[in-house]
Amino acid sequence: MCTRRYIPTYYANNIYEVDIAFYEAENITTLLIDLDNTLDSFKAKTPSEKARSLIENLHQYGYNIIIISNNKGNRVKTYADALDLAYLGNARKPFAYKIKKILAENDIDKEKTLLIGDQLMTDVRAAKRAGIRVMLTEKLVKEDQWTTHINRLFDRPIRRKLKRKNLLNDWREVYEQN
Ligand SMILES: [Mg+2]
Repeated sequence: MCTRRYIPTYYANNIYEVDIAFYEAENITTLLIDLDNTLDSFKAKTPSEKARSLIENLHQYGYNIIIISNNKGNRVKTYADALDLAYLGNARKPFAYKIKKILAENDIDKEKTLLIGDQLMTDVRAAKRAGIRVMLTEKLVKEDQWTTHINRLFDRPIRRKLKRKNLLNDWREVYEQN
């Protein structure tokens, strides 16, 4: 298995541990954030307190945020609306055409865009195809929606290999080198 196309730009245990100053240091102004198991559990119909305060903080610093989820439009809309966020449901990651479209339509600079997600097979692949940077995280909670189980079967060995070969760039290390 070729692991090269799965190497994320950055790695974090979860989105909540990342200092907002890191995004600034890396010249990022737009965050495309995966929903299930990145921001919240797939069971969370509405945003957790944690998610609310993170988004509020990011907004205060002027970040442009779009939720990008493969989940059904309704689930994504309900969640994103509660945070007053732009969103893309049925995003069809690992394909990139919908992501490219939303970036073009909103005149968003790809160079300053980062996708954050917990899955190699969907989030990392889609970001690479769209030509944007990507931060891979671990899953936020244990349980996954059944549709994700098959992706995890492929994800696990690749992730292990990336770790073994030291190909996961922890955001802290990148940050310290700045
Ligand atoms: Mg996810």
